[in-house]
Amino acid sequence: MTETAKFRILVTGGAGFIGSHLCDRLVQKGHRLICVDNLYSGKLGNIRALMNHPRFEFIEHDVTEPLAIKGSLHRIYNLACPASPPHYQRDPIATIKTCVLGAHNLLALAHEKHARILQASTSEVYGDPKVHPQPETYVGHVNSIGPRACYDEGKRCAETMFFDYHRRYGVPIKVARIFNTYGPRMLENDGRVVSNFTVQALKGEPLTIYGDGTQTRSFCYVDDLLNGLELLMDSDSEVTGPCNLGNPKEESIKEIARMILRQTNSRSRLEHRPLPQDDPKRRRPAIDRARTLLGWSPRVALKDGLQWTIDYFVLKLFTGRPVSRRIQVTLPGSAVRVALGARSGRMSM
Ligand code: NAD
Ligand code: UDP
Repeated sequence: MTETAKFRILVTGGAGFIGSHLCDRLVQKGHRLICVDNLYSGKLGNIRALMNHPRFEFIEHDVTEPLAIKGSLHRIYNLACPASPPHYQRDPIATIKTCVLGAHNLLALAHEKHARILQASTSEVYGDPKVHPQPETYVGHVNSIGPRACYDEGKRCAETMFFDYHRRYGVPIKVARIFNTYGPRMLENDGRVVSNFTVQALKGEPLTIYGDGTQTRSFCYVDDLLNGLELLMDSDSEVTGPCNLGNPKEESIKEIARMILRQTNSRSRLEHRPLPQDDPKRRRPAIDRARTLLGWSPRVALKDGLQWTIDYFVLKLFTGRPVSRRIQVTLPGSAVRVALGARSGRMSM
């Protein structure tokens, strides 16, 4: 196939936050898409606009079961797996099965179809890291029996299976280790820090800081991540990864709370809650490999990405629905301020 060739691509987890953006983008580029999802943490609403598209097909399916696809298949992005701690801990056995059996079923499909397959792995494979920032050569520090293990160890095992299929059967693999990613379409109740703080700030509720808020994360805007995933998928066949994809700018959780309060003009207060068990204290990707092999680095400043995310939640939370207090927000790319007024207020521009 030439560089401009159009592919038939399977995206598992395609109704989720990252997967639905990926489906949008790949369809727009002219590819034929099959989106597979069991809707555990994904929403049909995320892909509603694609549903009638002639090059898009949705299959409701659990990847822990084998998947039969008729016809050719050139590429698989394996994103199926809940990503937020409350979601993946809600049914830990389903999570580990999704990671491990899902990887097995999709690798078998890739092998059968001679398709290239990309695994959405995670910075969680580094656990609560003792090396900082984390390069791909760091083997990690994971508690194998803690409440995060269903996800962390599941993803580690999936990586193992990817490399074994590659060594044993020559399946062309790409393993991306994704660091904290945020943006529109995160679920308002998914428990992740950016969505939690944004929703709390917009509703005038206290922002729940777990622990003292000095723990750090590095936040990558979803568009930047998608650029990295596509570049990795398109990279030369000898590039297997693992390859960190994330924003190397590190922020404390306290600072994220302050930024969101400022950018939403919210008067919410900060409320400290106990730090969850095994919560990593620091996390920042070393992205030299992605820079060198893919020419990739993130472009979107945190302030801008947060603003676009805040604007998404404003529309989602308040459009056509009554709001209980007055909040002002700035719309993207304009100086327009939106007043979400009083008890019976509706969004006005
Ligand atoms: P998400 O929860 O929004 O999306 C995951 C999707 O997978 C959902 O649509 C869900 O319904 C689907 N799914 C779950 N179990 C399934 C199963 N057994 N069969 C079929 N579909 C199933 O999460 P996301 O943030 O979009 O994450 C996508 C991928 O990226 C995940 O694999 C996650 O581990 C990885 N990742 C995400 C982040 C992040 O910060 N968002 C960080 C590291 C890795
Ligand atoms: N966090 C927090 N308040 C919240 C949600 C999360 O202080 O309401 C903290 C959480 O303890 C962690 C960090 O924010 O230290 C990032 O959490 P998230 O669940 O977004 O991602 P992960 O822990 O998987 O990196």
